[in-house]
Amino acid sequence: MLNAPGESVAIEPIAFDDLGDDEILVRLAASGVCHTDLHVKNMNGWGMAFPILLGHEGAGVVEHVGRAVTSVRPDDRVVISWRVPCGACAICRRGDPVLCQTQRVAQPRVRRARDGQHLARVLSTGTFATRTVVDAAQAIPVPRAIPLDKACLIACGVVTGVGAALNTAKIRRGSRVAIIGCGAVGLSVVQGARIAGADRIVAVDLTPQKLEWARQFGATDAVDARSGDPVEAARAAAGGPLDYAFEVVGLPATIAQAVGMVGYGGTVVIVGVPPTDSTVTLPLARGGLFNKKVTLTSCSGGDMVPSEFFPRLMRWYLDGTLRLDEMVTREIGLDEVEDAFAAMTSGTVIRSVIRL
Ligand SMILES: [Zn+2]
Ligand SMILES: [Zn+2]
Repeated sequence: MLNAPGESVAIEPIAFDDLGDDEILVRLAASGVCHTDLHVKNMNGWGMAFPILLGHEGAGVVEHVGRAVTSVRPDDRVVISWRVPCGACAICRRGDPVLCQTQRVAQPRVRRARDGQHLARVLSTGTFATRTVVDAAQAIPVPRAIPLDKACLIACGVVTGVGAALNTAKIRRGSRVAIIGCGAVGLSVVQGARIAGADRIVAVDLTPQKLEWARQFGATDAVDARSGDPVEAARAAAGGPLDYAFEVVGLPATIAQAVGMVGYGGTVVIVGVPPTDSTVTLPLARGGLFNKKVTLTSCSGGDMVPSEFFPRLMRWYLDGTLRLDEMVTREIGLDEVEDAFAAMTSGTVIRSVIRL
């Protein structure tokens, strides 16, 4: 947990309130370490009150269920989604659950044991723990054939990247795609572009290792952004302007590059989480949004309904279409979260997964 702004991650005993009727207690088996957890630490809580329980990419086994829960039972293996449409708001009822802003989440039930303070949980999950409490709708069953320390990746990084390609952009077969930023999410966009049948998949990054990984996950071309103009290099590699450009860094400069890469009618998807209060200046006319009729949008957690999309991702894993094993480059203990943050910052891992 994070106890106060500027402090390192600490391990402390936690305690639990009684479950609400629709809630479940999950004994966690594994959790990926996502950039958003580091973002919460670096952004002094990212708007959440301290103390904060980190982690939002977890999988485990259901231990107890609330009185009204029928969707899962104790001993079910589940992956925990942080993005579950409520099913009741005006947006859900008009048939757009992907746009729902009132997600199904559990009440605060996890406390810091030493003083009883409730822990805020990152993205309403809190998976850097041996147990956590979530709404039953957040728990998506995992088939026996999928190891939980791989299934956990689906919860955030993989669903966000693959969903950006298939749901947000709806990449057309045969198109030209660029991905700027090839961490775990960017590599998942690469996989999504491959699944969508893109013709050219151009990976753009600053580190040769990540470009090498991108090729292994399906990129057809790699552009080292340190050597020359990445916009021209990506267009040259693709054999023309891009149909889709994914910005998976979260910085104004790379968003402008993505807009520069696409051609007429192109789509730019911002996937990287931008710093609070950041702004971007983009050209409108020559090579810009208006003249090129650019669609500029963002991806929120893969723009999907987890009860539908997670099972698809799991089937793709089982038939070899979606590669998860290769994304886990480091397995760690709960006491190594700070090391995982450092490795993430230095770009030497795709994903660190905590074994719980
Ligand atoms: Zn995440
Ligand atoms: Zn809703």
